[in-house]
Amino acid sequence: MEQSNSALQALCARHQAVMLQHDATLLRVAVVETPDPQLLEALQFASQCKVEVECWPAARLEQLLHAPDATATLREPASTESAINAVEQILRQAIQRRASDVHFEPQRKGLRVRLRIDGVLHKLPNLPDALPAAVLARLKILGGLDIAERRLPQDGQFTLELDEQLTAFRLSTLPISHGEKAVVRLLQSENSAITLDKLGMPLAQLRLLKSALAKPQGLILVTGPTGSGKTFTLYSGLSALNVPDKNVCSVEDPVEIPLEGINQTQIQPRSGLDFNRVLRALLRQDPDVIMVGEIRDAETASIAVKAAQTGHLVLSTLHTNSTAETLTRLRQMDIPGYLLGPALQLVVAQRLVRRLCVHCRQPAQAIAHLPHEMWPGTLQTWRAPGCDHCFSGYYGRLALFEMLPMSNKMQNAISADMPLEHVISLANELGMRTLLTAGLDAVSRGDTSFEEMQRVVGLGNG
Ligand SMILES: [Zn+2]
Repeated sequence: MEQSNSALQALCARHQAVMLQHDATLLRVAVVETPDPQLLEALQFASQCKVEVECWPAARLEQLLHAPDATATLREPASTESAINAVEQILRQAIQRRASDVHFEPQRKGLRVRLRIDGVLHKLPNLPDALPAAVLARLKILGGLDIAERRLPQDGQFTLELDEQLTAFRLSTLPISHGEKAVVRLLQSENSAITLDKLGMPLAQLRLLKSALAKPQGLILVTGPTGSGKTFTLYSGLSALNVPDKNVCSVEDPVEIPLEGINQTQIQPRSGLDFNRVLRALLRQDPDVIMVGEIRDAETASIAVKAAQTGHLVLSTLHTNSTAETLTRLRQMDIPGYLLGPALQLVVAQRLVRRLCVHCRQPAQAIAHLPHEMWPGTLQTWRAPGCDHCFSGYYGRLALFEMLPMSNKMQNAISADMPLEHVISLANELGMRTLLTAGLDAVSRGDTSFEEMQRVVGLGNG
């Protein structure tokens, strides 16, 4: 391989061509003028793989050749190889440590790599020996990005076989002061089962969700900030509805988990394919169940609510903090109560908190000073110092849910545009458990720490 690589480099140099990509099946080179047919033949012979020749403007090629970091990655096979190894090693660690994202950040000196595990970033202490620019170039080649473009953000996807397991990644780059930063998101692998029972939902709430999903039409909304697990809840709902006698379809940005049997469409805003356009097209496709990745504007909200009233079950997410705030948000989006009330089947608000390690957690101080309406009596708290089983005391995550229970009374209140305080007190009458209550419960059971609960949920007005 080394030898054929240097032969190829020499061949490229002779024809003023630049090697862009070279792996087991493909060799990509760039040239300035129309490629010499002899070059193509020679490259095919020397590389024994498919050859693609791109014709670049001279300035772009010059820039690539004279950028100090790029030539390092393109001309020195050693550096390229160490970058390939470094990327593999880092991604393998990310999988082993259950990371959701990997941040590659060039610093004034060297590269910083951080893994997001259970929602919190952790710095990798020992980095494989590779040049930051070479690592970035390797990632961009994997993601099918333009490696010469370093001034604009780019995004792409790739799959890699690591430890005999195929994993999908999403890549995005952004220029920062010391070069280019890349974030790699680990996507759920297709075969891991996604079911409602895996949500860790308390039984009473699971029953509410299942009964809403069993309705022939209506609107189910899951809300929360980014990273609160709402997409996973929606996917679990979709999986439950994924039966041969139903046409289940989705419009997403992007398709995060491919689900067999569901017609998933990814929006392409640059080609004019936005949420509304896909949604309108979906409605002409004889759907039973429609998942709208996110309701972002009044138009999407209005189409979703109308679809939910005309014989379709519509599932979607909203970027709001609580079930009550969701109603306010929809009002701001000009959805009148008389349309929303009859359509709404369920509103779920959720958060993810880190779970205390069961191997090293121990009872800690009890808290006695919480307001009575928040938590009657003293609240037992737990702590975990960290052990061989966990990562700094936490292992895995736990979802907290708040559900706005629907009843005739509730639907009437929403239809009549009653003030929000009225809706909230009605919800309390119907026994709604707030996120805070769910969080304090989790603290008292030792599932999470008080500090973690406070970080994620807050203590409300208290
Ligand atoms: Zn532990």
